[in-house]
Amino acid sequence: MKKILMIGTGGTIASIPSEDGFVPGLDAKTMAKMVPGLNELADIECLELMDLDSSNIGPQHWQSMAKAIADNYAKYDGFVVTHGTDTMAYTAAALSSMLHNCQKPIVITGAQLTMGEQGTDAKRNIYFSFQTAVSDVKGVCLAFGDRIIHGLMAKKMCTENFNGFWSINYEPLAIVKDGKLVWNGTIAGGYGDGEFYACTELETKVAVVKITPGLPSDVLDYYIEKGYKGIILEGYGAGGVPNADINWLPALEKVLKAGIRVICCTQCLYDGVHLDRYPIGILANRLGAESAGELTVEAALCKLMVELKK
Ligand code: ASP
Repeated sequence: MKKILMIGTGGTIASIPSEDGFVPGLDAKTMAKMVPGLNELADIECLELMDLDSSNIGPQHWQSMAKAIADNYAKYDGFVVTHGTDTMAYTAAALSSMLHNCQKPIVITGAQLTMGEQGTDAKRNIYFSFQTAVSDVKGVCLAFGDRIIHGLMAKKMCTENFNGFWSINYEPLAIVKDGKLVWNGTIAGGYGDGEFYACTELETKVAVVKITPGLPSDVLDYYIEKGYKGIILEGYGAGGVPNADINWLPALEKVLKAGIRVICCTQCLYDGVHLDRYPIGILANRLGAESAGELTVEAALCKLMVELKK
């Protein structure tokens, strides 16, 4: 049987009721015991890393997760990380960007309902995460509901739906059909040939700025003053920046001259950024703003945090 390390980090999946609502209270070992048939799938060992609502998870927690996986990489055939759903897409993107040359499955999962609630999705999600962790997948992926998603392509779309994570711009790696995983592909986040390694340094001075109609471009001054190193600019449609009454180009030039990297993303979910179509994109690109291509905002942010420390 394959040896899988289950890493607990908190979230609804691990939560129990309290006076103030659901709070993480179950460790990974307890959760593993609650899922029927899990012991027949894998030889499971557990590691409790943290017990947080994922809204409280940030770069230092991604570092602990990446280190825990790197330290144990040789000892296990795969990994299952249980996590809150709110920031799970960010963590999947962060681990995909921090872990390199992954040849083993690293599966992140969560749930909309706690393990103890009637009709919960938690046990099923853990079960299919383990199915993924004993499969031929190479790299970081997110397992949720009926979908196994590449770690750089996941997005939380719904606050309650059991299929609340979607795979953006690409088909999911696998779907659950008639109780079985049907595979499309097995290459996931951080896959590569060569020796596995982890980049655990992250530049935290990276901000996401969402352009909205009427927003003045001098909001960017704040990031220069505060010493930011990267900006993910969430523009509209094919990307680019407003260049008429409110003209973002001079502000963009100032930011780029200050040595801040700027990555243009789009507020559209699908089809990516195309800075070569309109002056709003072409002019921004000429100044040095880069395109996020088909990356989600979550993926662009986490990749840039890693790249700025490489
Ligand atoms: N607030 C919870 C969390 O992200 C929500 C969940 O897990 O579904 O930790």
